[in-house]
Amino acid sequence: MPNRYLIANWKMNLPPEGIESFLGAMEDADVAVAPPCVYLNEVAASAPKNVLVGAQNCADQKSGAFTGEVSADMLRDCGARFVIVGHSERRNVYGESDALIARKLALVIDAGLMPVLCIGENQAQRDGGYATAFCSDQLRSSAVPQLANASEVVIAYEPVWAIGTGRNATGEMVAEIAAAIRDALGRFWPAALARRAPVLYGGSVTPDNVDDLLARGEIDGFLVGGASLDSKKFLALAGAMKTRFATT
Ligand code: PEP
Repeated sequence: MPNRYLIANWKMNLPPEGIESFLGAMEDADVAVAPPCVYLNEVAASAPKNVLVGAQNCADQKSGAFTGEVSADMLRDCGARFVIVGHSERRNVYGESDALIARKLALVIDAGLMPVLCIGENQAQRDGGYATAFCSDQLRSSAVPQLANASEVVIAYEPVWAIGTGRNATGEMVAEIAAAIRDALGRFWPAALARRAPVLYGGSVTPDNVDDLLARGEIDGFLVGGASLDSKKFLALAGAMKTRFATT
C-alpha cells in the first residue's frame, strides 16, 4: 500500500466484536490499526500480514523517570511500526504543545518508526479565517532535524471541530488545506520527504461521506476513529479507497 493509508485509531476503545474478529475481517484489506498500546503485542501477533500495526502516542523522552509513559523504542519492541503524534485529543485534553510534539516526532524517527503527524484547526480558527495559516504553523513547528533521517512521515489533517462530532469537513475544505499542507511541507521540510509525504484526512469519516472526500483526489487516505471500531464500516472505507485509487 505505498503512500496510501487507511488508519484505525481505536483511541481508548476496543472493537465491540473483539480484536480477533476485527483482524480476521481485515485479511484482504490494506489497512493500519492503532490499538491502545497495551494490546500492541496481541494485535501485532495476530494481525494479517497486510495490516500495519502502530501506536496512538509515545513519550517525549527516550527513557528515565517518567512514570506512566511509554517510549517509542518500547512501542517498536511491542510490534509498532508507526506512531500517531500530535492527535488533537493529546493537544487539547492533555495540553501537549507544539514543542513537546516535535520532541515526540524526533524520537519516533530515531526509533525507526513512521510518524503520523496530526494537525488541524479548531472552530474559532476556522471561523476567523486562519485555518490554513494555523496548519502551516503547526508544520513549521514540527520541522525537527531528524526529518532528514526519516524515510516517510504521514500528515493527518484533522480539524478539531470534525473529530467525533459527526460533522466532517467538505471536500472543498479538505482540498484547500491539503494544498496549504503541501505548500508548507515544501517550505519547511526536507524536499524529498515533503514530496512523498502522504496527506490523510480525519474527522467523522464514514462509509456515507468517504466517496465525496475522495472525489477530488488531493488526499492519500484517512485516519479514522469512530468508524474504525466496526470491521464492516472500516472495510467499506477500505473498499472505497481501493476503487478510487485503482482508477488513478
Ligand atoms: C480521530 O480520532 O482521529 C478521528 C478522526 O475520529 P472520528 O473518525 O471519530 O472523528
